[in-house]
Amino acid sequence: MSLSVKEILNIGQRRLQDAGVSDAALDSKLLYCFMTGITTGRLFIMYQNILQDGQCDEYFRLIDERASGKPLQYITGTQEFMGLEFDVNESVLIPRQDTETMVEDVISVIKDGALRGESLEGTGRREWDILDLCAGSGAIGVSLAKLLDGVKVNVTCSDVSKAALEVARKNAEKLGVSKSVKFAEGDMFAPFDGRFKKKKFDLIVSNPPYIESGVIPTLQTEVKDHEPMSALDGGEDGLDFYRIIAREAGEFMKKRGILFLEIGCDQGSAVRELLTEAGGYSDIRCLKDLAGRDRIIYAVKAE
Ligand code: GLN
Repeated sequence: MSLSVKEILNIGQRRLQDAGVSDAALDSKLLYCFMTGITTGRLFIMYQNILQDGQCDEYFRLIDERASGKPLQYITGTQEFMGLEFDVNESVLIPRQDTETMVEDVISVIKDGALRGESLEGTGRREWDILDLCAGSGAIGVSLAKLLDGVKVNVTCSDVSKAALEVARKNAEKLGVSKSVKFAEGDMFAPFDGRFKKKKFDLIVSNPPYIESGVIPTLQTEVKDHEPMSALDGGEDGLDFYRIIAREAGEFMKKRGILFLEIGCDQGSAVRELLTEAGGYSDIRCLKDLAGRDRIIYAVKAE
């Protein structure tokens, strides 16, 4: 079979379309680029090239994998987040763009002492001990360590999954921040709850699982059949992890420590209420994502 790049891309796109893949045109190209190692920018100058032996089979194998509903990122093994390339596999949630907004907010608070352009009081610190709780791929914690250059930060990425922490560790190495990132395996705050002393952080940031259990069967195949259930399922009302955080986070925060939580767009008032009921937090705010939906909860440990 001697097919040109253009021809094979068209076949790939059609197969993905028939399988109901929403970004069929883009994914057919990205899989070709992944296979050959060329950049998307150079692809069009190769359209007339004839594929080498074996390349067609290899390409169609990748297309079949994607057509079966496997997310592109688990096939290529990477996802860009905050302009950085993170490794991913099926042990970790694929980092989402929504989460970037929260990372940007954290950076602004630490670097500029401001949140969405508004100056905050009492945020100046010489050094920041940061916890990324439920770290998964390390997208949040590792990008903070990388992008907060010029600030003394010690980041801890914690997760209940050993396999996820392996991915996070690899990402820290790959992005050159191994020195400022530590890893802790365990359920929520357990790794920091010493017999005599609790570890205390200046800032805790978390994107915990927050999807209602009953909604999970209605999600796309890509998500429900491939992303780790333990990274998605937030219990019956989706709030299980926020309950634990509201109850316990304060004990693991230093004086005037800061809490950042990603939330589902319909969970703003519920999570706010959980923090208010638990007590010990002040200045609780709900912030929006780029699409204008509630996405982030910010709170300060009350003095
Ligand atoms: N912190 C990781 C992310 O935002 C993983 C989140 C999770 O597994 N719930 O991508």
